[in-house]
Amino acid sequence: MITPDEIQRVLAGYANHELTVATVGSHTALQILKGARDEGFRNLAVCRHGTEQVYQQFGVADEILTIGRYQELMDGTFQQQLIVRNAILIPHGSFVEYLSPRRIENELAVPLFGNRAVLEWESDRVKERAWLLNAGLRLPLEFTSPEEIDRLVLVKFPGAKGGRGYFLASSEAEFAQKLENLNLSDKAQFTIQEFVIGTRFYPHYFYSPLQDRLELLSMDIRYESNIDGLARLGALVQDRTPEPSFVVTGNLPVVARESLLPKILEIGQSVVTASQELFSPGLIGPFCVETICTDELDFVAFEISARIVAGTNLYINGSPYSHLLYNEPMSTGRRIARELKDAAELDALERVVY
Ligand code: ATP
Repeated sequence: MITPDEIQRVLAGYANHELTVATVGSHTALQILKGARDEGFRNLAVCRHGTEQVYQQFGVADEILTIGRYQELMDGTFQQQLIVRNAILIPHGSFVEYLSPRRIENELAVPLFGNRAVLEWESDRVKERAWLLNAGLRLPLEFTSPEEIDRLVLVKFPGAKGGRGYFLASSEAEFAQKLENLNLSDKAQFTIQEFVIGTRFYPHYFYSPLQDRLELLSMDIRYESNIDGLARLGALVQDRTPEPSFVVTGNLPVVARESLLPKILEIGQSVVTASQELFSPGLIGPFCVETICTDELDFVAFEISARIVAGTNLYINGSPYSHLLYNEPMSTGRRIARELKDAAELDALERVVY
């Protein structure tokens, strides 16, 4: 078990002016590596054999270390290779998925950008809901038993990986029939959630503890298969609509009506404030609240990702929002590196690295 003190000891041994920004070669690694370089850091990608070409091709990595399986990153000798390079790891969605929140918390001695405690809060559905409720956000209604279903609901399963296995139902009977047909091992662990109809907005926030400032850097809408394809079939399939699925296949850029921005900023701020109360020092750096805006212009939040999200890949060169905040192309990846640079200059890395 790695303690916070051990990580701080590793960090104390680092040369502040010779840090290496490191990440796993997947997800948002291109912008993280480019952003690190733009901010003057040396960078490093840890790739699985066969995936390194992407990072060579785009020429964004100063160094690439390859491993057979992502889990090998946890080997003591491999971690040591990172530590001797004064490496700070930047977590992203694939990083967390491949290595698991528990293993990261218990076994990773390499300093990580952000608060490790957040991994547990975002990956446990009960804790995540408690956090969002604590922030005062409106969440989709949840039904404890199928008998209560009185509207269109989305039935979710843990670790669904992009909504795989989710199904819609409008009644207890439809629920029972679809559950029976489902090919899943842990069918008992379902969550029945009101299906909220509206516009999905996935705002990409950044919270800087150094400046105590929340920034809205960009926003996207996830493109999902087959739900987003079904709309094109319309009247053709009215009799036999295929079961919708929600597998992310891409991201679309979006800006919200300007009059919605106060609410969007408030959502980000209240999630940060709640995190500081629940797991001090709370959220650090990038996060995304997955929301649906109803026709009453009310936001319903159904999930939080407490790290850089893939939708930010749209904005490697900055977004309309980041352009207002910064007079230079500011991706989320670069913003992380900027925070690290500021912390290193203030000799305060321990405020952003855990
Ligand atoms: P990820 O971890 O990649 O975000 P996931 O497997 O946790 O995915 P969710 O994000 O919960 O899945 O949901 C997947 C998709 O299902 C969402 O992007 C959204 O389109 C839709 N969705 C989820 N919850 C609701 C809801 N309550 N009402 C309407 N649509 C929803």
